[in-house]
Formats: sequence, structure tokens, C-alpha cells
Amino acid sequence: MRLNTKLPQVGLTIFTQMSQLAQAHAALNLSQGFPDFDAPPALKNALERHVHAGNNQYAPMTGVQSLREQVASKIARLYRNPVCAEQEVTITPGATQALFCAIQALVRVGDEVIVFDPCYDSYEPAVTLAGGRCVHIALDSQDFSIDWQQFADALSDKTRLVILNSPHNPSGAVLKHADLQQLADLIRERDIYLLSDEVYEHLVFDGQPHCSVLAHEELYQRACVVSSFGKTYHVTGWKTGYMVAPAYLTAELRKVHQYVSFCAVTPMQYALADFMQAHPHHVDELPAFYQDKRDQLCLALQDSRFSFTPTASTYFQLLDYRQIRDDLNDVDMAHWLTKEKGVACIPLSVFYQTPPTDQFLLRVCFAKRTETLALAGETLCAI
Ligand code: PMP
Ligand code: GLN
Repeated sequence: MRLNTKLPQVGLTIFTQMSQLAQAHAALNLSQGFPDFDAPPALKNALERHVHAGNNQYAPMTGVQSLREQVASKIARLYRNPVCAEQEVTITPGATQALFCAIQALVRVGDEVIVFDPCYDSYEPAVTLAGGRCVHIALDSQDFSIDWQQFADALSDKTRLVILNSPHNPSGAVLKHADLQQLADLIRERDIYLLSDEVYEHLVFDGQPHCSVLAHEELYQRACVVSSFGKTYHVTGWKTGYMVAPAYLTAELRKVHQYVSFCAVTPMQYALADFMQAHPHHVDELPAFYQDKRDQLCLALQDSRFSFTPTASTYFQLLDYRQIRDDLNDVDMAHWLTKEKGVACIPLSVFYQTPPTDQFLLRVCFAKRTETLALAGETLCAI
């Protein structure tokens, strides 16, 4: 049989490729984004408690109620927009599944979806499977901001969905309230929905606010906002996330979610709910926690030949390597660094439809212990 693939452009994700390469060459893995330190003991203890208490069967399709309530109360506290735990919050097996469900629920055959490059890798395959087409707009090559005129020019009668990602992976750029207002003005008269990927919502530095779509009353009425407990509680392997949307949209999203996975894993949800209730300020402490790690990395790289601007958010730092090897493109550079120098990272060009020709950027993850960051600094300074 010859399979006519539905996803001809898709191979192994760059994260799997680089993590495998890191392992094969025993390199320090700063590529795929995940902490090399463990989850809070109280969270792990809560999981153990719930497994032993017998919370091991299917969760409700919408998510464990206490966790939905914790999410709703966090949203009310941080974004001052009361959402209904029952009708607007849905717990999913990871943010990836929430994004996939939202795209399947909203995008129809022939629809256009506006995405911004560099663009997280899971969006486009989901749009393709839904029969839609991504319209790519490149972010500014220096500060990764959105050119709203270019956005206005890209709108068409076929535009159905806009996918935002702030804080932005891989650049760390954050959207400002003025950006959300521009977007609201430009799509007000059109039937366009918004999918807002805010998985790094609690990792914004230097005292800057996270401008969530949840806090923008007008945009929220047509939005699905996605987040991930993996980033916030140092448990990327628990694959638990959530989506928040007005009731009429949530009803549509759940139609898909209930047939993709039906529900998220049960004991993780109880454990996260307990932890959130006992430690509501964990999220308030995260910016300082990760800003310190960013600063450790940046200080360690001060005397290196990489140039960089300390990232504004996420747990990723971009490094410009043109002073070291401007003869290599970023994919080759990432391979060279992994194989020859023992540090694995992520090239930026893979997140573009048309990569800029004058960019020499790599992404490194600093969700790492102090020892790891020091070793990374030492190794990268020697190059
Ligand atoms: N969106 C972005 C921008 C991400 O970086 C990630 C994961 N690193 C996800 C979504 C997926 O999150 P999850 O692991 O909860 O599926
Ligand atoms: N989102 C993570 C990153 O950007 C990777 C997740 C994955 O491996 N799919 O590194």
C-alpha cells in the first residue's frame, strides 16, 4: 500500500531530534524546554496521596471540579475577569491537546489561520488536518514585535482564526496591551476567533505584566486561552493543561476534547488542585525564580563570543552566534555545537515558513539547576 500522507511536510519535531542528538553525544541538553530540577515535594506528595486514595479512574470530561475552581480563582485574582469554572474552564492532557482541539473545533476546510513566525511547531499540522491553511506573518527580526499593518493586509474573507503566543516561544517577546487593542480594532467587524497560547503566562521578567487575553474583555468574547501546568509547576511530563473560553465556545471545544481524549489524567488533577489551594502564591514567586536563572546564564555568558539581550520572558534565551561561525546556518550550528562542543540547543529557522537570511540565532533553555547553568556557561565561553 502507498500511503498518501495528510502531513507531507511533517517529520520528527526539532525537540525530539535535538534531545535524541544530545543523548547520542552525551551533550548538555539545553534544547527541548524542560526543567532539570524536580517538582515541589508537596506536589509529588499530593500525587502519591491521591493515587493511594484510589483517585485512579476517569475524571469528569471537563476536568476535576476542584482544579477548575482553582484555575478560575487564579484567573479572577490575576486577570480580574471572573470566569465560570463549570462552563468556561476545561482541563486537558497538556496544552498541546487544548490547542489541537481548539483548531479542530474552529477551523473549517478552506479557512485561513494567521500565525506569527517564528511559530510554535504544533499549530500548523493541526490546521492542515482541519483542512485549513496557515497564513504566516514574520515577527520583526530584531524585537519580534507584530507589524499590525502587515496583519491588517493579511486579513481576508477566509480568515477564521488568529493564533497568538505571548509570552512567545522561542523569542521571549511579550505582547503589550496596545497590541491586544490593535487586534481588537482590526477584527471587531469580522467573524474571526482567537486562540491565545499563554503557557508561559507566569514567566515574565523585569517587573513587566503578562497582558493576558483573559483580561481583555472584548477579545475574550471570541477567544480560547490555553495554558499548561507543566511550565508553572515544573512538571512538563504530567502533560496537564487547560483551556478557557466563553461558554458558547467552550461547548464547541468540549465536543472535540471529549473524543480526542475524553478527559485528562485523574490523580494529576487532584494533586494540582491541592497544591494550588495550599500554595496560591507559587505563581507570584515564579518570575523571580526564573529571572534569577536567566541572570545566572547571562552572567556566565558575559565573556563568551555569543551576543544576546536578556530575554523578557519564558525559560528560553536567544543567542546570536555570528561572531563564532557565520559560515554555518543555524541548523548546522546546532548540530555542530551538540556533536563537537557538547551543548544541545534549538535553531530558530525551523519555526519559520521563510527563515530570515540574516539571522544567526539559537535558543537555549535555562530551566536548569545552578550547576547546569554554570557548566553551560563554562562550555559556551570556551567556544
Ligand atoms: N505552546 C508552547 C508555546 C509551548 O512552548 C509548549 C510546550 N513547551 C506547549 C504549547 C505545550 O505545552 P504542554 O506540554 O502542556 O502540552
Ligand atoms: N515546548 C517545548 C519546547 O519548546 C517542547 C515540547 C515538545 O517537545 N514537544 O522546548
